[in-house]
Amino acid sequence: MQGRRTARAGHTNGGLGAGETVEAVVTSKKSSLESSGTLELKSPEAVRTVSLVRHYRLGRSIIPAVDGVSIAANRGEFIALLGASGSGKSTLLNLIAGLDRPDSGAIVVEGQNLATLNSEELAQYRRHTVGIVFQSFNLVPNMTLYENVELPMRLAEVRRRERKARAREALEKVGLQGRLKHRPSEMSGGEQQRAALARALVNQPKVLLADEPTGNLDSKTGTEIMDLIRGLTRALQMTVLMVTHERPLAERYVDRMIFLGDGKLLGETKNKMGAAR
Ligand code: ADP
Ligand code: MG
Repeated sequence: MQGRRTARAGHTNGGLGAGETVEAVVTSKKSSLESSGTLELKSPEAVRTVSLVRHYRLGRSIIPAVDGVSIAANRGEFIALLGASGSGKSTLLNLIAGLDRPDSGAIVVEGQNLATLNSEELAQYRRHTVGIVFQSFNLVPNMTLYENVELPMRLAEVRRRERKARAREALEKVGLQGRLKHRPSEMSGGEQQRAALARALVNQPKVLLADEPTGNLDSKTGTEIMDLIRGLTRALQMTVLMVTHERPLAERYVDRMIFLGDGKLLGETKNKMGAAR
């Protein structure tokens, strides 16, 4: 695959050795925290994984779901993680989402080294730093649309008035302001994914992680969701990592495509067409 050469080139472009980069990012987090109390990173990187490994043990066999993957995403970049079914895309995304812990390797997101976070801090990270969207929407079935979108803000202890304002704003952004009292079963697939997107955005995450967000939608609705993601992330200056196995779709929207196979990084290509949109 032509990607192999690009992968090596990409790695060299990074300049620093993997360990050095993480150390630099973590050090810069510490010093800026000490000096100003806020997190001001000089690094343009939003996400970096270094030699990430996640193996599943299944009886006596070991499945190398993610097998030494080092990738980086710059702030504001829209990246697609591509690969055949079983290539480790979801495992990688779940690790970055803080939903799963690696066996080895490092993950640094917006200056936070996930390995240093305890479970409460990791919950905070999931609540504030990242927004997550899944193929199957994962809305709470017995809650209304409004309640679903409000939920992450309740968990983050956002005050009631603010919750209301932000929920309404998010629902307006995804064009669902007229559906507040609907339950998920009363909405179409496309509407449910819009709702899931609004829910992912209400705590104003810096990074949006999406696992096959159009996988359960027909192609027209899928295109609408992609337009929405592209538009919102540009407007909100978010970084997006999107898992998909649909290369043509990725080519139309993303800035860069990263290819995985059997848990390994196969290569990556910049995508002028998507970036121009
Ligand atoms: P993708 O999202 O690219 O389809 P996954 O990350 O879901 O791939 O899976 C990567 C590999 O890890 C596959 O071989 C899959 O069968 C295996 N795997 C995923 N989750 C588990 C699990 N919970 N237990 C055991 N094996 C798993
Ligand atoms: Mg998957």
